[in-house]
Amino acid sequence: MLHLLVEKPDKLSQFVEHLQDSATLIGPCFNCGNLAEGESCSICLDETREVESICVIERVPDLFAIERSSAYRGLYHVLQGKLSPLRGIGPEQLNFSTLDKRLKEGGVKEVILALGNDLESEATCHYIQEEIVGGQNIKVSRIGFGLPSGGGVTFADEMTLKSAIESRRALDL
Ligand SMILES: [Zn+2]
Repeated sequence: MLHLLVEKPDKLSQFVEHLQDSATLIGPCFNCGNLAEGESCSICLDETREVESICVIERVPDLFAIERSSAYRGLYHVLQGKLSPLRGIGPEQLNFSTLDKRLKEGGVKEVILALGNDLESEATCHYIQEEIVGGQNIKVSRIGFGLPSGGGVTFADEMTLKSAIESRRALDL
């Protein structure tokens, strides 16, 4: 960007136009909430992904961070936030209904909760375990042990994320 400003100012308007085009083309994946060009994102469309696991994350940058660690080959579900009574964010504000639908369609064996260590993430994990998965024969596990507190998934380095995913713990139902 800076390079364009300094060296090729004539190319800048072209670049801005391109950005605007991308912004209108890209929206949330109807299945998982990741960024998508069209209805489904590249991960949901990728037939080599392991469809038995869904990794639940707060936001899209968390997905990019986990992808960079190469420790996970399953699918994702982006909540677009976490439960926060203090900020007025309840279950209806988050992307829970599509998660519920995906689990009820069958085929999912494990839900991996990759949320942070704070109280809001804690409450969100609890809600998913009790209200969304509850009663179905699906393993629920949680990563986050060893992640820097407060920083969450997005800012964890690749090695930390990899070991956090590999050492995920099953939650008792
Ligand atoms: Zn998707």
